[in-house]
Amino acid sequence: MTAPVTTALPTHTDVLIVGAGPAGLTVAASLTQLGVDHVLIERADSVQPGVKAAFVQPRALEYLDRLGVADGLVAAGAPGRYFGFHDGTRSLIRVSYDNLDTPFPTMLLVSQQTTEEHLNRRLAELGGVVHRRHRLIAFSPDFPGVTGTVAAPDGSVRAVFDWELATSGDPLADLGYLVSNWQEPGDPSTPEAPGPTTVPGFPGRAEIVERYARQSGRDVSDVPYWVAFSRWRSACINVGVRARYLAGHMVDDGGYQRYVRGSAEQGRQLGETARNALRELGV
Ligand SMILES: Cc1cc2nc3c(=O)[nH]c(=O)nc-3n(C[C@H](O)[C@H](O)[C@H](O)COP(=O)(O)OP(=O)(O)OC[C@H]3O[C@@H](n4cnc5c(N)ncnc54)[C@H](O)[C@@H]3O)c2cc1C
Repeated sequence: MTAPVTTALPTHTDVLIVGAGPAGLTVAASLTQLGVDHVLIERADSVQPGVKAAFVQPRALEYLDRLGVADGLVAAGAPGRYFGFHDGTRSLIRVSYDNLDTPFPTMLLVSQQTTEEHLNRRLAELGGVVHRRHRLIAFSPDFPGVTGTVAAPDGSVRAVFDWELATSGDPLADLGYLVSNWQEPGDPSTPEAPGPTTVPGFPGRAEIVERYARQSGRDVSDVPYWVAFSRWRSACINVGVRARYLAGHMVDDGGYQRYVRGSAEQGRQLGETARNALRELGV
């Protein structure tokens, strides 16, 4: 039996567990017992057959006993009483489990598949859930936690908490962002998000700022600072995204090669405009 599949993936959790192997299932069952909020995702749609772990050691059985899994597993496996090394027919080492101070003095011969099936069943009994066919495709530190991107069974992105570099309440940061991307005819470098503003009929940057000041009544004397901030932010994002691609933490959606090739030049241009913006500030 496999713990139920659900597509109702929460978007916040205290603990994200990736992978319903023995480790993930054990952690999920323990946290369920303790009442700790968590989400367990697994890319496979069921417990996978195949040769992996073939035996479970006494300390692992002791822990599994706390979860209520050990007895069933012992019944399903074969108790090994010792392990040994042989050279042909000659015995080199023989280590007995008979005298171990443990309720489970055995090296239990049981397949990993069986262990996972028992853990899945117990997790379901405890009320836990495995979100199967959900795959972690990216993650990044996001103080004070971690942001994960999870792909759902149909390939859609179910949960994304990427870094947030928003304005923290200062509206001039938005104006600075607008101005830093407002391209004028003859501008030497490509802005981060090229728009149609070089087409005849669009006002220039100075006019945009002047209109904003008139309409809002705000003091816009700090706009050059926010333009410089926006340019540095764009340069940092570019470097960060490129690093994530190169480290293999982004989905290879076919745009990988194109992006990495183009982003080096774009990054150089963004760095140059960021440096120029600081020079204009006299920094
Ligand atoms: C041939 C072989 C023999 C072994 N023999 C023994 C043995 O006899 N005894 C022993 O104690 N150990 C043995 N091991 C080691 C044992 O298999 C591992 O220690 C054990 O599998 C680790 O469990 P785990 O849950 O950490 O990882 P895994 O069992 O590898 O489980 C990881 C899970 O994460 C899922 N996953 C991976 N990436 C993602 C993603 N991005 N998003 C969502 N899900 C994901 C995978 O589908 C998988 O189900 C053996 C291993 C091998 C390969």
